[in-house]
Amino acid sequence: PQYRDLTRARSLIAPVPDFPEEGVVFQDVMPLLTDPVALRSCVKEMLAPFMGRFDVVAGLEARGFLLAGAAAMVADVGMVPIRKAGKLPRPAAEASYDLEYGQATVEVQADVAPGSRVLVLDDVLATGGTLSAAHEVLRSIGCEVAGSAVLLEIPSLGGRTRVPDVHAVFAG
Ligand code: AMP
Repeated sequence: PQYRDLTRARSLIAPVPDFPEEGVVFQDVMPLLTDPVALRSCVKEMLAPFMGRFDVVAGLEARGFLLAGAAAMVADVGMVPIRKAGKLPRPAAEASYDLEYGQATVEVQADVAPGSRVLVLDDVLATGGTLSAAHEVLRSIGCEVAGSAVLLEIPSLGGRTRVPDVHAVFAG
């Protein structure tokens, strides 16, 4: 298998118009995750700039969990989930961010040692609200953010202004 055939991997992200609501184009990464070669190539590509510079990966609920699980095996590190409020049994910190209507909150447990360097992973960067809240919540439990990586950045939504140094495998 060609482990770096990223053009093919890009073609496995399916745009779904008007999901979950009218006017939104949902970028569905599930076909990419289902393909073994695309999954491995993309996870390696997400990690590449950061290799040797993180102690643990964090995955953002929900599709970030899938990437973080795979990335943890590739990088030989552990993983920590960052969840929507109310899901974790022992939340240690929370951070809220604005949505178009209302607010959302993410939480993390203090299972990762203070001072750990955390690489934060998610599937899609849109406005950057989720990723910047993830950075905030990790810092509140004493972690250092080693960086962030996503499969796909949607540049028109401006997430990079909130998370300037995010590494995106694909943009646009
Ligand atoms: P944001 O906080 O606006 O950057 O949104 C990023 C989070 O929402 C990620 O966890 C994505 O999984 C999800 N998301 C936002 N917009 C989309 C989209 N157009 N397609 C797929 N996922 C999206």
